[in-house]
Amino acid sequence: MGRVRAFTLVELLAVIAVLALLLALLSPTLRRAVLQTQAGVCQSNLHQLSLAQVQYAAQCGGQLPAMRGWVGGGSTHTWQDDGTHVREGTLWPLVAREDVYVCPTFLGLAPQASRSYSMNWNLGNDREFFPRENLVRVSQIRRPWQMLGIGGENPWPISGISRYGIGDGCLLADRWPLRDSLGTFHLPAGDDLDSGLAGAVLMDGSAGLQPAPLTRRLCLQDDWP
Ligand SMILES: [Zn+2]
Repeated sequence: MGRVRAFTLVELLAVIAVLALLLALLSPTLRRAVLQTQAGVCQSNLHQLSLAQVQYAAQCGGQLPAMRGWVGGGSTHTWQDDGTHVREGTLWPLVAREDVYVCPTFLGLAPQASRSYSMNWNLGNDREFFPRENLVRVSQIRRPWQMLGIGGENPWPISGISRYGIGDGCLLADRWPLRDSLGTFHLPAGDDLDSGLAGAVLMDGSAGLQPAPLTRRLCLQDDWP
């Protein structure tokens, strides 16, 4: 009597088994919660980039930043450098935080990424490639609530939808299959990361998650000048 009773090995194994079962039951829920949080951070990033885009225009007589200038690097594929190109971009003085340029879920899929967002090609025509095109002004956007400003891309292409994963800072979404990719990895129904949603911010500043076909439609307006 008086002896401290220790756990037997069988009791200890039973406790471990119960804990393992609980963890297995909870992990999809925990994983979902992490992904929800990351999707919220992504939308916050896009909102901040959108604010910088509009602030930039306000400082430049209403002219939006060039699609290849908002992040540096020109037409080269600079989404996985050490962050140099986002610091060289025209929006950097207004953003000044590297983490704002990359979606946390994207970073989990491509850990070397320094940028996961691209600007709607139709907003900022590029004198480097299209010398006769004018850069777009905020006043030319007739329905800002239906016009994509900046959207998230995928690191990989999807057969039949996109020919390349994320490359330069422009999101060119015209005819299928698209040259550029549209993000599909946010909150997929199952494990298929090609079936989820893209982070996107519209030109009225509202950020949300959109399915790929709608993201594409939001890149264009039928009465675009
Ligand atoms: Zn995202």
